[in-house]
Amino acid sequence: MRRLSRLLAALFFALPSIGQIAPPQFPNPPTLVKASRLLDPRSGNVLSPAAVLIEDGKIKEVGPPSQVQAAAPAGVKIIDLGSATLLPGLIDGHTHLFMDIVVLPEVEQDRHSNGLFAPALLLDIVESPSKRVLLGAQMAREDLESGITTVRNLGHSGIDGDTELRDAINAGRVPGPRILAAGRKLETRGESYVQNLNPALADSILQQEFLLFDSADQARQAVRQNVFRTVDVIKVTAEENLTVPELAAAIEEAHRNHLKVAVHAIDTTSIQTAIDSGADSIEHGNDATDQQLRQMRDKGIYLDLTPTFYDGGYLKLAEPVIVIPPAVRAERLSSAARSKQRYDQFVQRVLKSGVKFAGGSDMAWYSAGKTRGEMSVNVLLNLHAAGVPALDVIRAVTVNAAEMLGWQDKIGAIEPGKFADLVAVMGDPVSDITELERVRFVMKDGQVVRNDVASH
Ligand SMILES: [Zn+2]
Repeated sequence: MRRLSRLLAALFFALPSIGQIAPPQFPNPPTLVKASRLLDPRSGNVLSPAAVLIEDGKIKEVGPPSQVQAAAPAGVKIIDLGSATLLPGLIDGHTHLFMDIVVLPEVEQDRHSNGLFAPALLLDIVESPSKRVLLGAQMAREDLESGITTVRNLGHSGIDGDTELRDAINAGRVPGPRILAAGRKLETRGESYVQNLNPALADSILQQEFLLFDSADQARQAVRQNVFRTVDVIKVTAEENLTVPELAAAIEEAHRNHLKVAVHAIDTTSIQTAIDSGADSIEHGNDATDQQLRQMRDKGIYLDLTPTFYDGGYLKLAEPVIVIPPAVRAERLSSAARSKQRYDQFVQRVLKSGVKFAGGSDMAWYSAGKTRGEMSVNVLLNLHAAGVPALDVIRAVTVNAAEMLGWQDKIGAIEPGKFADLVAVMGDPVSDITELERVRFVMKDGQVVRNDVASH
């Protein structure tokens, strides 16, 4: 009996952790993808014509078709994308697959003001977790169909929605991108979501969504709880009340478990706390000073730019679903113009500072007539409108994002050894970045998700 249990224990520990289990149950035949151009975002070089040999879901060889074809096994399956341009699959560094918030009319927002967009958030939290995870599955599929082959889901997934969806996708049960799951977001009780909730109910509601902490010890404990849920990354919200010892404790515990820490920080105080505590990435970062951007560059902290509401994004979401009184509309438009100007200046300072940056959509919003994937790519391309050169936008959602995630050896480039995550567009994305909104071919793990190239 004892020998049996020892055997079982040995077996158990020999298994890879759940998030690491390799996907496909159906082995894919070796595949050769040909296209007239292949863009390497890292160097900006274009290989023309190009071929990619894929075996067991991974890239085996990249080069001119004659050379790659010679190395291909007999009977290799050939996908000819004609005049298309191949790129690595896109990476959304910051998303929320388990939220689909309908923006509220202003008057409703005022009447039910309950901390930071809490009315919609509350509904998500208190509704059925099964319903929510099915929503997540839909959002994941829609992201993948638009060419987003990896996402980092940074909180708002209930207790284990994102780790479970990740595993379901990896097991081939539902289609979706690779997910780096953050599990529950770490927050202090002073955080704006927490305010104004009915104190008699607050804790049980909040625990469905967040891990609350009020000390360095509790911060460590919260990280351990997420580790138990097999998360891939830790997300902490930093607001002005968060202290360096608290955040540093969370980060130390995460690093001990080989996890990176993404810190939501917008105001300068929170950004400084994140920098001083040794965060791996700062999410949003909108109010960073030039000195802070330089500190981030020197410490190698990634800035994850999230231009979600750039240039009237809120109105774009609101107008199809609610009636906006003219006075409110006028006010929204002028505030959008002001914030656009601020963001454009921020982007110029970011570019000048030399800080490493990636892109995240921060999508959590219902958008009438658009899929989640269409909305997410649309938001990411706001970076270009804000002044980031097209090639750098492509880097922000491929090679840079991969490095920010710590997955630079797995994704973000079309190179031997990496997962076969590819997209193709018909035009030149460097001269017209909106090509990324018209992805015609998506492959993940060597499996074709969609191929509309033939019809164009
Ligand atoms: Zn977010």
